[in-house]
Amino acid sequence: MNILLANPRGFCAGVDRAIEIVDRVLELYGAPVYVRHEVVHNRFVVDGLKRRGAVFVEEVDEVPDGATLIFSAHGVAQEVRRAAEGRNLRVFDATCPLVTKVHLEVARHCKNGVEVILIGHAGHPEVEGTMGQCLSDGGTMHLVESVADVAALRIKDPSRVAYVTQTTLSVDDTRGIIDALREHFPEIQGPKKSDICYATQNRQDAVRDLAARCDLLLVVGSANSSNSNRLRELAEKQGCTAYLIDGPEDIRQDWLTALPRVGLTAGASAPEVLVEQVIAQLQAWGVAGVEEQEGIREQVVFPLPRELGARATS
Ligand code: SF4
Repeated sequence: MNILLANPRGFCAGVDRAIEIVDRVLELYGAPVYVRHEVVHNRFVVDGLKRRGAVFVEEVDEVPDGATLIFSAHGVAQEVRRAAEGRNLRVFDATCPLVTKVHLEVARHCKNGVEVILIGHAGHPEVEGTMGQCLSDGGTMHLVESVADVAALRIKDPSRVAYVTQTTLSVDDTRGIIDALREHFPEIQGPKKSDICYATQNRQDAVRDLAARCDLLLVVGSANSSNSNRLRELAEKQGCTAYLIDGPEDIRQDWLTALPRVGLTAGASAPEVLVEQVIAQLQAWGVAGVEEQEGIREQVVFPLPRELGARATS
């Protein structure tokens, strides 16, 4: 049995930046540091930060006066931002700049009186944050999750409508929804393709390639990680059995029986150390070799908030 290792995999620039923000704030101001929502959707990362003094909360009113608060990489609604501003808190924003870009787009449309349709998954914190760039300011915004939702939309003026997307969607499914939107609303405004980010796109491309050559694909990522779930689904759609695992403890040895090739990847919020632990476990069970696949070399780096200083250059 061999492991085929996807490339690229694991941390994206937005996750890397968000974790570094929590690290630096802990260093500068000491524990406890409050983080609204899991800073990134990964159990290992969140548990590690908890041990260092990060306290994860869901609402601003859970944070005591005078404390330090960080918004997660998924972004927050304007009313959450305002609630924090109205309190005696030191606030840092770990929203991924690619999510902020979508927020600004929504706010622009909203200000111009254009109705906005968001393609995304209900209940995901990024969707709540993006909807909250318009709804909390009195604009009109709609969420669609499927082509069927598009048919049910009621838009006041079809010549003044725009769409944006969640950043971590399935590229293939989103294309179908955008096509349906363009068919229903020929004048709809929107990004050239979608707002799906480079990291989501690259990891899906790598899995599409790998799934065609594997008997089983393991995706390292937590159950609440949107982009990791999309990787598992993509492999399954290609006819490759796939499992989402938090780490080596989740692998069942009987999954591997008589399989010559096991693919391995990691979602954008899963650290490489977990991939290494999975490889070590598979090797202990008799994996012969590890083949790293060729892939795009990602060089995206996002700067930290100015008050936290420059990033170390390597
Ligand atoms: S997955 Fe994309 S949008 Fe999300 S944090 Fe990473 S780079 Fe940003």
